[in-house]
Amino acid sequence: MRYIDPHIHMVSRTTDDYQRMAQSGCIAVTEPAFWAGFDRSSAKGFHDYFRQLTEYEPRRAALFGIRHFTWLCINPKEADDPAFARDVVALIPEFLKCDTVLGIGEIGLNKNTRNEMIILEEQIALAEAHNQLILVHTPHLEDKRKGTRLIMDALSASHIDPGRILIDHVEEHTVADVLDRGFWAGMTLYPDTKMTPQRATDVIEMYGSERIWMNSAGDWGCSDPLAVPKARLEMSRRGHAMSLIDKVTLENPRTFLSQSPNFRVDIP
Ligand SMILES: [Zn+2]
Repeated sequence: MRYIDPHIHMVSRTTDDYQRMAQSGCIAVTEPAFWAGFDRSSAKGFHDYFRQLTEYEPRRAALFGIRHFTWLCINPKEADDPAFARDVVALIPEFLKCDTVLGIGEIGLNKNTRNEMIILEEQIALAEAHNQLILVHTPHLEDKRKGTRLIMDALSASHIDPGRILIDHVEEHTVADVLDRGFWAGMTLYPDTKMTPQRATDVIEMYGSERIWMNSAGDWGCSDPLAVPKARLEMSRRGHAMSLIDKVTLENPRTFLSQSPNFRVDIP
């Protein structure tokens, strides 16, 4: 069994997690830049973080035979101060030269504020100018549907092919909108919030397996770095074919991510 976890924050995880993921069949991870659980006090904090994502984590993952790729941005939670956010965004072009960077992400909205939207639009323009893929974070709970629509409208105002954009953390009430507008959809498997392996399998059964993937979004909070292999087990338990299970946990991530020339993963 082989799978890709296309959204996980390994900077927050231990080396034991890499080992357990490798033993469970993980061959590659992609790590979006995100909120560290505290606000950084200067853009220099992001410079160090981007170095950790592009230099240190690929080496740590390689010890376990896992390929590590990353996405860069200022996350929506720290993007409400435009001057600060612009200092961070100015750091990104230099890091786009690194050969494990796949694009801009996870960008989006947190509280759907005007300032967040301005910085979102500027990061969409950055992705467009540098021909980068985009990975989108959608807000939680009651703001999710509204936030997802605001983000999709901002994306549609650019000239970026929606097939090069993945909208993550979709749930039952947002997935149809995302797919209908031509974007890719990501389902996040969390122990309590977001989707469970059971609900994600329900969504595959209802909406099909085109342009959709699953991820653990493992981070410093309650999360499970083995959520993707657990979802594979749930699909298998329900009698789904191995070809379908591989499609949503291996082939679909590879198809989307391979649109970046930096994504190269050999499947043994
Ligand atoms: Zn995330």
